[in-house]
Amino acid sequence: MMKAACKPGRPAREQHKLGRIQLYTTTFETYERNIREQLARMLGAGGFDPARDILEITVNRWPHGYAYEYNSLFDQFWLEGGETPCQVARKPFGRLAIANADADAYAYTDCAIDQAHRAVQELKKN
Ligand SMILES: Cc1cc2nc3c(=O)[nH]c(=O)nc-3n(C[C@H](O)[C@H](O)[C@H](O)COP(=O)(O)OP(=O)(O)OC[C@H]3O[C@@H](n4cnc5c(N)ncnc54)[C@H](O)[C@@H]3O)c2cc1C
Repeated sequence: MMKAACKPGRPAREQHKLGRIQLYTTTFETYERNIREQLARMLGAGGFDPARDILEITVNRWPHGYAYEYNSLFDQFWLEGGETPCQVARKPFGRLAIANADADAYAYTDCAIDQAHRAVQELKKN
């Protein structure tokens, strides 16, 4: 029951956008039908009956599940060195400091924690 919503052959950023559109435009009925059909194929031989055994289905869609990570195949600046877009974008502005995983283009919680720590240190300098 997994799907990577993307359009092979297009640049990564474009694929992410198209994947988000696909997530939003897929109807609940389609998610439900696919879940029932896949579970029936996986578990049917063992006696699972989707009509009897599925009591409820909840679909949660994350519009922005992971921070965008730079990719040397598509992001030329990544190979050139120098400041990356996220380093430019996270510069403090007056008493505003920027935290979060996007601030370091890395999609994991340790990054969000590190960036929060950096942002607080920047505020302390003010
Ligand atoms: C399905 C899934 C699985 C993941 N698994 C892992 C894992 O196993 N390990 C790992 O390290 N990372 C994992 N991640 C990634 C991790 O969750 C993120 O990297 C991390 O949560 C990013 O933290 P953040 O503070 O940058 O953003 P978020 O956690 O997204 O926090 C942003 C917050 O801002 C709030 N917000 C948004 N707009 C506004 C507004 N206008 N006003 C006020 N509040 C607002 C949101 O409600 C949210 O609470 C996973 C992510 C997903 C989606």
